[in-house]
Amino acid sequence: MIARVTLEIALRREFDYAIPPELAGQVEVGSRVKVPFGPRQVMGCVTAVLEDTAITRTHLRSLIKIVGTQSLVTPRVLALARWIGGYYCCAPELALKSVLPEAVRREEDGWRERLFVRALPAPAEMPKLTPRQAAVGSIINEWRELPLRRLLTLTGATAETVRKLEDRGLITIAPEVDERDPYARDHILPSKPLVLNPEQDRALETILKAMEASPRLPRAPDGAEGEPTGPRPKPVPHVFLLHGVTGSGKTEVYLQAIAHALERGQGAIVLVPEIALTPQTVERFKARFSSGPHQTLVAVLHSHLSTGERHDEWHKIRQGRARIVIGARSAIFAPVEPLGLVVVDEEHESSYKQEETPRYHARDVAVVRGQMEGAVVVLGSATPSLESYHNVQRGKYSLLELPHRADDAKMPIVRVVDMCQEMRLQKTPPIFSNRLKEAITQRLEKHEQTILFLNRRGYSSSLQCPKCGYVAQCPNCSISLTYHRAAQQIVCHICNHQAAAPTVCPDDKCRNPAIRYSGLGTERVEDTLAKLFPHARITRMDSDTMKRKEDYRRILNDFRAGKIDVLVGTQMIAKGLHFPNVTLVGIIHADLSLHIPDFRAGERTFQLLTQVAGRAGRGEVEGEVFVQSFTPFHAAIQYARRHDYAGFYEQEIEFRRQLRYPPLSHIALLTLKGRNEEKVQFFADHLRKELEKKLSAPVAPGAPSPFPDLILAGPAPAPLARAETFYRYQIMLRTSLMTKLSRRLADLVPHLTLSEDVTLAVDIDPTNLM
Ligand code: ADP
Ligand code: ZN
Repeated sequence: MIARVTLEIALRREFDYAIPPELAGQVEVGSRVKVPFGPRQVMGCVTAVLEDTAITRTHLRSLIKIVGTQSLVTPRVLALARWIGGYYCCAPELALKSVLPEAVRREEDGWRERLFVRALPAPAEMPKLTPRQAAVGSIINEWRELPLRRLLTLTGATAETVRKLEDRGLITIAPEVDERDPYARDHILPSKPLVLNPEQDRALETILKAMEASPRLPRAPDGAEGEPTGPRPKPVPHVFLLHGVTGSGKTEVYLQAIAHALERGQGAIVLVPEIALTPQTVERFKARFSSGPHQTLVAVLHSHLSTGERHDEWHKIRQGRARIVIGARSAIFAPVEPLGLVVVDEEHESSYKQEETPRYHARDVAVVRGQMEGAVVVLGSATPSLESYHNVQRGKYSLLELPHRADDAKMPIVRVVDMCQEMRLQKTPPIFSNRLKEAITQRLEKHEQTILFLNRRGYSSSLQCPKCGYVAQCPNCSISLTYHRAAQQIVCHICNHQAAAPTVCPDDKCRNPAIRYSGLGTERVEDTLAKLFPHARITRMDSDTMKRKEDYRRILNDFRAGKIDVLVGTQMIAKGLHFPNVTLVGIIHADLSLHIPDFRAGERTFQLLTQVAGRAGRGEVEGEVFVQSFTPFHAAIQYARRHDYAGFYEQEIEFRRQLRYPPLSHIALLTLKGRNEEKVQFFADHLRKELEKKLSAPVAPGAPSPFPDLILAGPAPAPLARAETFYRYQIMLRTSLMTKLSRRLADLVPHLTLSEDVTLAVDIDPTNLM
């Protein structure tokens, strides 16, 4: 027998190894193995077990050993990794790496073991004990079982005393796995299903019907041999887009659909954007499934866990003890089997896209995984991505709508303030319009809370000399430095370059002391606010003030407890937070995201405004939102004001259609970077010529071109032309045939001759065009 193995070193192919007789029958698809490679020994993962291979047996080297007892990758997750490698144009071993967390892949890390003390049944004849031993013995009897260390701190006894009890045959001391639980300290009260309103009920019923219609795939036997894509019942694809306004009770629909999956003996994966992984979100899931008829462990996977915690959470899933997983992007690879349901909450979030190889989009991977495993997929959002809504329009997904807030709360009133007019009223360029100031005053008087949103941290966005025109630029990146007043520093928001803030113009000939800071950030909003309202309790929440993990939690708790009147923040406060006493939301500068050079700027602005506005009026008092803008009639702002998603979609899709941007096409973005600009440009030109030759030429003479609708643009300097000392050039390809184009690119890229100091990154369906 022969094992095909992908190695954990960057090589774009798989290798065959002979399975030695002593390992026969033990090697499975997904086994982790140590193999010889040149003079070294490296780790790899078995992707197939084969009878025969093209290479004759004499040339094959043998596996050295199997690492670990259980195969880590199930055949189904392996199939998913293959799909990712193919579609996102990356080497198989890189795709495989991303489906297995580092904490699980590493050989050294494992379960943590601790010594446990356990009481044994009392012997017929009680041995003689010292008073001390007797006291410790009776405490052990009370607990039945506890960690040795715990016992020692509890009783103040020495290990010696406890050993004596073991010698007398009264107790045992043995190592035992001690599971790490990242949420062990939380006290979570169980919750019961709510009675759904008719809209929620209709949505749930439709989802349940689809679950009933999909075949129940059996749990694949561990290490099923051969190609994991073998014949099996054809799964019915069922993807739903749950479009529900903020506060419409989408989460309750997810919870009840998950309960149904558990009833069917299936598990579920819930993806949430990293930023929404507040204790609140996790709590809601744990609370529902910690007891009752559907009791199961809920595993949590996200970047704030320690390596050990991640290891344990993952294995709880692999062992089938945790049937529900809630996590960020990479949780889509969790080994839940059989999988009945995948939920992608806030599906429009760009954090689902991984910005390093493999550059996969977790929402799209979720849809593919659902299809492969016959699981129902629910994509939820108040502001669906144009991609998903378009998929509804063309019949690929089914639409479920929750147009009203669940608890009958009204949608907030949104007022757009024309800041050009304000400029004329107030002499200096204002941060707060008079109407917003008035509204804040009223809330302070009524003891209601306010959220102010600005998507830029720091004090000022740039430092400029009005006399000589000097602007403080990052030495490594093509952007200006942001002034942070508290720290008295100018900082680059791309590479984090920091320098002391100058007090005079640094230009030797100028030395103007009247150097000016222009543009604004959250720090300045907070400062100005404190001057306007000296008695208000104001707190700022952005990545500058959130230094430690607990900061986030502490501030939100204080806000909930009413210890804060006004919360100022960046997108950190835009989503998912639910505070009944917030009746006012102010968006300081709504145009900020409109003018970035990205065809999605309008869509992002619409989403952001709608999400931020959704924080207002979640309680009994109706909410009010002020949107300050210099372009108040922009479509994104006007449709957001009217809570009109469909209207926004109609005009935006027309714009995309005319320019053939996604979702009317797919993009492959090729970025070349290097420290020598001329070299980067040279290779970018060379790449363009290669692409023209290879992609537009028909496969055979007279045959039609393989990519009839291909649009090739560039090379051009990237919008962020230089970052972290690297110059960047881009070529953009647009086509409707992306699967085919990826395959072509994968063949082409390894054969390109690039200079050693110029690198090429391929991004399929990019969300970040900078
Ligand atoms: P979304 O996820 O759509 O933003 P949530 O699930 O957070 O909305 O629900 C908003 C609020 O409405 C929550 O406090 C939730 O407990 C409540 N809620 C949801 N469904 C119902 C229901 N059927 N009856 C009463 N309250 C509900
Ligand atoms: Zn920089």
